[in-house]
Order: sequence, then C-alpha cells, then structure tokens
Amino acid sequence: MLNLVLFGPPGAGKGTQSEKLIAKYQLVHLSTGDILRGEIKNQTTLGLEAKKLMDAGVLVPDEVVIGMIGNKLEENKNAKGFIFDGFPRTTAQAEALDKLLAGKNTSVNMMLALEVDNEELTKRLLLRGKDSGRADDSNESIIRNRINEYNNKTAPLKNYYTAQGKFHGVNGIGSIDDIFAALCSLIDK
Ligand code: AMP
Repeated sequence: MLNLVLFGPPGAGKGTQSEKLIAKYQLVHLSTGDILRGEIKNQTTLGLEAKKLMDAGVLVPDEVVIGMIGNKLEENKNAKGFIFDGFPRTTAQAEALDKLLAGKNTSVNMMLALEVDNEELTKRLLLRGKDSGRADDSNESIIRNRINEYNNKTAPLKNYYTAQGKFHGVNGIGSIDDIFAALCSLIDK
C-alpha cells in the first residue's frame, strides 16, 4: 500500500496536488475538510456543529475527524493506498492514524509538505474565496485564524514525521506541473 500524508498550510495547494496524485497512483483521496463540507451540505448534526468552528477558522475536535477517517478506512478495504489531505492536523490525530493503519498492517509511507509563505497563502485564499464561496476563505481575519491554528497545532507534525524519517519538504510556489513533478520524484525514489 502507498499511504501519503499531504501536508501544508491552508492554500498551499494540497487539494490541487491531491487530484493529480490520486489519478497517477490510483489512491483513495481522504480530505477531512471535504468530508466535513459534505456533512454541512447534508445538514447532519455533526455538520451543523462543525460549521460553527470551520466558519471561525478553528479546528474541529480530534475525536470527530479521527472517527471520520476510521470509517473511511473501513469503507475502502481494497484500496491500493490513501492520500490524506488536511489530516492529521494535530499530534493526537497523527498518533491515532498510526494506530488505525497499524490495525490494517500498514503505515504512513511519507509526509509530503508543500511549503508556501504566509503572504502568498493569504493572497491565494482570498482569491479562492471569490470562486469557491467558502466563508472561511473570504475574510482576512478568519484566514489569519486558520494560519495561526496551523502554526500552533499542525506545524509541530513536521517533527513527528521527521523523527520517523518520513518528512519531505517541497517548494509549493511555482507551476502546478513543476510542483507535481517534484512530488512524484520523491514518491518514486
Ligand atoms: P480544509 O478544507 O482542509 O482547509 O479544512 C477546512 C476546515 O475544516 C478547517 O479550518 C477546520 O475547521 C476543519 N478541519 C478539516 N480537517 C480537519 C482536521 N484534520 N482536524 C480538525 N479540523 C479540521
């Protein structure tokens, strides 16, 4: 199995690169942000609770997203591998993912980190907000919250995966195809 964690701040290009990676390596895409937006669309209790936090740009509780990922792993028993996009976002989530995968006799192969500076991120997210209509992309102070959450809670995962020898950084500024080629060359090594 090939299990990739795609890492990077909001707006780094994780969604765009995920689409290309799943097509090339035939992986199942698991984006906790997409799953949560699906719950909101269906107006589930979980979705309604999550919406308040997402609209404020803060993380939803670990148990919620860990449960969602656990379910998706069960639903995709025959997958060739997974690409985790926007998950894990905290150390507790990373530990839970290791346990979930160990229970299936597999593990995370590598973390691929898209590296983009804060100024460029804010610019990209505001631009995306115009098209996507996402409330959390259209307000600069919410964007700042999301970047702060990333720096405080998610960035430490770099150390978590470095300690396991699995962290690989890639420059996330450049053409989509060049960034994709850099990711593929790391995966194919
Ligand atoms: P994203 O689409 O990955 O940028 O996620 C949008 C929002 O969903 C985030 O700002 C969080 O509020 C929530 N979210 C998505 N994934 C997670 C996660 N792994 N842990 C906690 N909250 C999450």
